[in-house]
Amino acid sequence: MSEQTRFLLSENDIPKTWYNINADSPVAPAPVLHPGTLEPVTPDFLSVLFPMELILQEISTERYIDIPEPVREVYRLWRPTPLIRALRLERALGTPAHIYYKYEGASPSGSHKSNTAVAQAFYNKAAGTRALTTETGAGQWGSALSMACQFLGLDLEVYMVKVSYDQKPYRRFLMETFGAQVFASPTQRTQSGRSILAADPNSPGSLGIAISEAVEVAAASGGAKKYSLGSVLNHVLLHQTVIGEESLKQMDLANEYPDVVIGCVGGGSNFSGIAFPFLRENLRNGQRTRLVAVEPAATPSLTRGLYAFDYGDTARMAPVVKMHTLGHDFIPPSIHAGGLRYHGMAPTLSALVDAGLVEAVAVRQLETFEAARLFAHTEGLVPAPESAHAIRTAIDEALQAKALGEKRVILFNLSGHGNFDLAAYNAFNSGALENDDLSEEDIANIPARLPQVNLSIPA
Ligand SMILES: *Cc1c(COP(=O)(O)O)cnc(C)c1O
Repeated sequence: MSEQTRFLLSENDIPKTWYNINADSPVAPAPVLHPGTLEPVTPDFLSVLFPMELILQEISTERYIDIPEPVREVYRLWRPTPLIRALRLERALGTPAHIYYKYEGASPSGSHKSNTAVAQAFYNKAAGTRALTTETGAGQWGSALSMACQFLGLDLEVYMVKVSYDQKPYRRFLMETFGAQVFASPTQRTQSGRSILAADPNSPGSLGIAISEAVEVAAASGGAKKYSLGSVLNHVLLHQTVIGEESLKQMDLANEYPDVVIGCVGGGSNFSGIAFPFLRENLRNGQRTRLVAVEPAATPSLTRGLYAFDYGDTARMAPVVKMHTLGHDFIPPSIHAGGLRYHGMAPTLSALVDAGLVEAVAVRQLETFEAARLFAHTEGLVPAPESAHAIRTAIDEALQAKALGEKRVILFNLSGHGNFDLAAYNAFNSGALENDDLSEEDIANIPARLPQVNLSIPA
């Protein structure tokens, strides 16, 4: 009998709760600081930007948080997503390892981002918000939130990092089709955008700058507009845990349990989404799954950055949090995995890496695209360049298992498809893509870029 390839759940298996790692994490969260005073923030400060339900989720220590029924109803459009055994990739590698992937590209906008977009739009609508502002890098977040805002009847302004705006016009057209307004960031519309352009009229932009612009517009709107972030924050990681909860059930259907769970990391949300339910099983039920976060060598916040307090954005308007960071005014090289071009990392994930509960590795651009090509040639699916980082590490794990002659069960999250990323594949196919690593000088300069935080409370 041939081996089963797809492990599918029914709509009844869509999780009814999100899982909150902060109920079980052995590391206490560091305080969130006001960007002006560098003192711990009050909920009042956050309520300028976010509706109260999301602020409560941000600080909650409840283990499970109910998913509102209207959100589950939208989830039915693509959830549960399939879990697929990459048998053809296994054969091509000649590995005894079993490789599974959870396919989040099955959502209408093509990535895991829809999981939190719908939830955030729902809570904003319920709180009376009229419009949202946000940033987008590669455009997946903007696309997902555009769809969600259209569903919920909210207006949306998207500040899109300029390099991506230029590299990926079709992502913009998609957002506009859903009714969003899209601007190439830095723009002339905000003070933070204007000051960046005054210093560098050709600025390629960055997620840090785009966040500043979106935050500035929401903060100046007198409450009509709120700000929405597609990664990094606790409530975003929380919403993504549907990925891991479904995967646990699907691995059960496959009669296997992963030795290693892998995801790419930009701000940390899709990785946390698949990994945190498995971390719960490690912490509470004696499992010993290794959890591996994969970042680009061009923006190596977890592997080369400092674990320190830093601003979430470039113009220093967003809260200061303790995280692995390359410095808030660091402008990453224009690698093609736009969704991974962020200077920082989710504080909750950073704390878990610092505590040794999650591993981190960095992979280079060319080896990442080579992995993506092999995956496309064997599994027939062109992954998002971001997701290809997870594929690279899954392949490395499978090759290591082969060298050791051991059976290893590998699960990775395929966070999105690459159907809008074909210009990057074209560059790779024509040999124009280069490894775009960070210089030693960039690394040495990180401490000078960080704010001087003097907390009386132990950090
Ligand atoms: C945004 C994005 C990422 C990176 O963001 P995380 O919050 O780290 O998940 C990775 N993959 C895809 C497809 C994305 O759209």
